[in-house]
Amino acid sequence: MIEYRDLRVAVLGAGTVGSQVARILLERADELAARVGARLELVGIAVRDVDAPRDVQLPRQLLTTDAERLVLGADIVVELMGGIEPARTLLLQALTSGADVVTANKALLAAHGDELFDTAAQVGAQLYYEAAVAGAIPIIRPLSDSLAGDEVRRILGIVNGSTNYILDRMDRFGESAHEASARAALLGYLEADPTLDVEGHDAAQKAAILAGLAFHTAIAESDVYREGITAVTAQDVASARAAGYVIKLLAIAERTADPDTGAPAVSVRVHPALVPREHPLASVHEGNNAVFVEAEAAGSLMFYGAGAGGPETASAVLGDLVSAARRHLVGGPGVARSFHAELPVLPIGSVTTKYHITLEVDDEPGVLATIAGVFSEHRVSVASATQTITDGATGTATLVVGTHAALERSLAAVVDALRQSSAVQAVRSVIRIEGDQP
Ligand code: NAP
Repeated sequence: MIEYRDLRVAVLGAGTVGSQVARILLERADELAARVGARLELVGIAVRDVDAPRDVQLPRQLLTTDAERLVLGADIVVELMGGIEPARTLLLQALTSGADVVTANKALLAAHGDELFDTAAQVGAQLYYEAAVAGAIPIIRPLSDSLAGDEVRRILGIVNGSTNYILDRMDRFGESAHEASARAALLGYLEADPTLDVEGHDAAQKAAILAGLAFHTAIAESDVYREGITAVTAQDVASARAAGYVIKLLAIAERTADPDTGAPAVSVRVHPALVPREHPLASVHEGNNAVFVEAEAAGSLMFYGAGAGGPETASAVLGDLVSAARRHLVGGPGVARSFHAELPVLPIGSVTTKYHITLEVDDEPGVLATIAGVFSEHRVSVASATQTITDGATGTATLVVGTHAALERSLAAVVDALRQSSAVQAVRSVIRIEGDQP
């Protein structure tokens, strides 16, 4: 049997995730050595402050503030410091000095993924990032390896735990958006800058990564259409519930066709959506994540679990580390990203989906016919129309209209026309319906 030399592993960051990765590397050293075929020697852990209190007791002599020196002596660099700099520079240095790299940093990949992957390809190094999307849940490897021979048709993902927590509290406990957000903040579910979560930026970064892998097409965060959850009200949630749906913030990546030319294209978007209660994604509660994948041959697959947390995310990082270590031993070129398909990304106006529209209308005879006329004029077919609340004092009624699949730009024209209609007092909300049979 070949006896391999020890592999030198540098960990950058000893926070929520890094401290757990370091702990497991130290505690399970023998078992990991048996799995890899060589010992993984933790040569150091870069931090900002070696004296900062930490949840996990780590040997003091392993902590250092000299991340650059640590990187240059390593076979594998595990980046868990987060942010753009100095993480970007350190990883470029690691790759060019011959190290393989593992990172959980989706923000860095969203902003500088091309530079990092290109550098890795040039030097024949490997860049692993399973933990960057949906924490503990294996989804990068299933898309890049397990489904590599299939054709992914659609991905619907709940990939941001804090917004799922907020929407779940609103749905199951009838909390207001404000109450649910305050509870999420108290539990530490929201990022230091909560707009990254509630405005959908975090989910958009993950959607770009998933869509790129699924459709073999380079997709930037700026290609992703994005709406957060800030406009979702308790009334929207109640109205969805009454109609048999739950509202989820979805990251959607879809293989489709350009409605004007018929040419193959993709749509990548993040927005709140009504999901039928019987859909598997409807039962993803609290801060959990799930990614629902529809593929031509495999059919429907659901990947579900913890989207964050120190030990949970460390599991995904360790999996990458073992893969990187095995490859480091046997050598060979890194597996480059495959972006050969180069499919165009459709603008949101060219996307086809269904809609749930809540209107405040005059409670008078003939109003329903007027509204139905607006929909048909713009070729949007109405699937259902339900009058839910009548207010005798103001002479208004709440009308909920569900549509069949329609082009987004046609629906936008309907909404404009409804806003101008004298029969409509207000368009209260327009929410897309996803996860339904097309
Ligand atoms: P964290 O708790 O804030 O820890 C960051 C660590 O990096 C700290 O130990 C910090 O040092 C160190 N650090 C930061 N800047 C540094 C610098 N300039 N030089 C040296 N050390 C530096 O972060 P985290 O929650 O573990 O997240 C790490 C990465 O994993 C991020 O990219 C995050 O997006 C990703 N991720 C996290 C989770 C999760 O559940 N937390 C899930 C999925 C992905 P000090 O301790 O001295 O301050």
